[in-house]
Order: sequence, then structure tokens, then C-alpha cells
Amino acid sequence: MINQIEAVTKEINDHTKGKASLVVGSTNPIKIQAAKNALGDTDMDVIGCPASSGARPQPLSEEETRQGAINRAKDCLLKTDADFGIGLEAGIFFLNDNIYLCHWGALVDRNENVYISNSPLILLPNEYRKPLLAGQNLGEIMHHSIGIQDLEAKEGAIGIFTENRLNCEQLLTEVVTVLLAQHHYYQEHSQVAIKPEQSPNCIFCKIARQEKKADVVAKFKYCYAMKDAYPVSNGHILIIPYEHTENWFTAREEVRLDIMEAVHKMKEELDLEYAPDGYNIGANCGEIAGQSVMHLHVHLIPRYNGDMADPKGGVRGVIPSKQKY
Ligand code: 5GP
Ligand code: ZN
Repeated sequence: MINQIEAVTKEINDHTKGKASLVVGSTNPIKIQAAKNALGDTDMDVIGCPASSGARPQPLSEEETRQGAINRAKDCLLKTDADFGIGLEAGIFFLNDNIYLCHWGALVDRNENVYISNSPLILLPNEYRKPLLAGQNLGEIMHHSIGIQDLEAKEGAIGIFTENRLNCEQLLTEVVTVLLAQHHYYQEHSQVAIKPEQSPNCIFCKIARQEKKADVVAKFKYCYAMKDAYPVSNGHILIIPYEHTENWFTAREEVRLDIMEAVHKMKEELDLEYAPDGYNIGANCGEIAGQSVMHLHVHLIPRYNGDMADPKGGVRGVIPSKQKY
């Protein structure tokens, strides 16, 4: 993998001296072709580069799919000198008892502007629900149910369910076209108020944009630390990425690593200021797990001798009846 990335990086950097270049965060020829189609006859080089999506091989929500596309776009920009990174990600989501196949795309430029777009949804048969939830990928399921092999290389799921009126390359071409057009538009009309990777009404995004007051105690490369407004204990802080991402599992790898480093640094600060006797580190991922602010945050909670009668079980207390074992 490393050699492959180095080779791609060298190729793109040699190839594009002085020319604008675009890298697609994938080696899938359909995705690369879609970017070429969208660019038309512009004099821009397009190349594919393996990139990490941070998502599961088959994302199971719109959020995870969208974040996967953004992560891919950012990752391939990190690995190359290209001017633009494009990430394209397919995923599944569940809505009103139906299952849909969705595609999200993201374009990231060197000024860290992020543009996103998505494609028409494709309704999938209800009997796919169980195998999808069990982690099987759509290609395998379709192979079992319709008997088509090597779906990717043929018309793909989109071709099948649209009776070949649309295929994956056409659909992704539209997505990349919209991304490039948005980028161009906002280059000309530079009044984008909010980076699209932030969410306008999210309180933790507002704090990151300094639109809402908060007790921010430290800032790191990708995240900041602030005092929790309703602390569980003296010194309880939250460590929060500047960019909007729903939870730990949708975050980019660099962001997760930065948060882990921040946890260590903040622990040292809290040791000096509060001298606690222990800590709980926790992140609620999803409403069912108790998350109330849908923007990733890691709780760092100092614990003190005697702060509760029998602390045994600690984070097992997320289900109070199961805290003790
Ligand atoms: P969770 O989503 O992990 O269940 O909890 C969200 C956490 O954010 C809670 O501990 C809550 O006290 C904290 N919180 C919610 N709104 C604000 C806010 O506006 N400012 C600060 N500093 N903390 C907040
Ligand atoms: Zn947010």
C-alpha cells in the first residue's frame, strides 16, 4: 500500500508540474473516469490515489457515507501535491422502513474549503435489510439474490435498479460536476459564510466559530477543550473537533489521533489544577448510547475519592443496573 501511494504521489507530482491537478481518493477506474468526464476538456490532470475513508467498507448511514467521502478527499490531498482532492463514497441508509443506496462526494481544496454533494437515491429490496445489517456488502447480497457476479465491473447496482437508464459512472459524473461547479462558483463569489464541513445550527460548531461563548481552556490542531457546562465532577471537560463529525466512528484518523493526544495533555493540566484520584474517558456514540449533542466530543471526567459510595464498574454504569458485576 505504502509503495503504491509513493508511486502515485511521484507520478502525480512529476506529471503535473505547473498544472492544476485533481486527485480522486480511490483506484476504482469508474470513480476516476467520472472525475475526468466532469472536467471535460479542461487542461487538468486527474489521477487516482488509494485513500482512507475512515468509514466501514459499507457505510450504514448518510452521515457515515458523507464523512467517508470527505475523509477520502482530505486523505488523498495529504498524500499528494494535487490542488484538489475528490472523495466519492457509496453507502446504505434506512428511512421510513425503506433501504436506500446513496452516494456522497466531497471536494477539498488547499485552503481547506470542503464542498459536498450527493446523488439520487436508489431504493433497495427490503429483503436486503438483514444481510446488510449483518455486515454483508451489497455486491455479495446481489450476487446471492440475483446471481450476478462481479457487479462492479458490469452495470452495478444502479444499472440493475434503474433498468440501465443510469449507471454508476454517469451518476458519479453528476456528483463531481456539482462539486467542481460549486467550487468554481464560490471562488468567484467568495462570501461563503460557513465552511460546508461545519453545521450551521450545531452548538459545538458555533463554539468553534466563536459565535457562542464557552469556556475554551485549550486549543489543538484539530480539536479544542472546553469546560462542560453541566460538569459531572470538578474539572469535567469535553474535547471536541473543530470540524463537524457526528461521533468517534465518523471522524477522520488525524482528528481521532489529535483528540487522543489532547486527552493526554489535558489530563496533565487537570492533575496540576485538581489533583483527582482517577479519570473516566468516554464518548457517547449515537442517541441510543446517550449522545445528546450530535457533534463528536470526548468527556474527560476527573474522579475523586468518595465522589460516590461504590464506584466499581465505572463506565459500565451507562446501564445502571449492570454497573456492578
Ligand atoms: P452527550 O452528548 O455526550 O450526552 O453530552 C453533551 C455534553 O455537552 C453534556 O455533558 C453537556 O453538559 C455538555 N454541553 C451541552 N451544551 C453545552 C454548551 O453549550 N456548552 C458547554 N460547555 N457544554 C455543553
Ligand atoms: Zn457541529
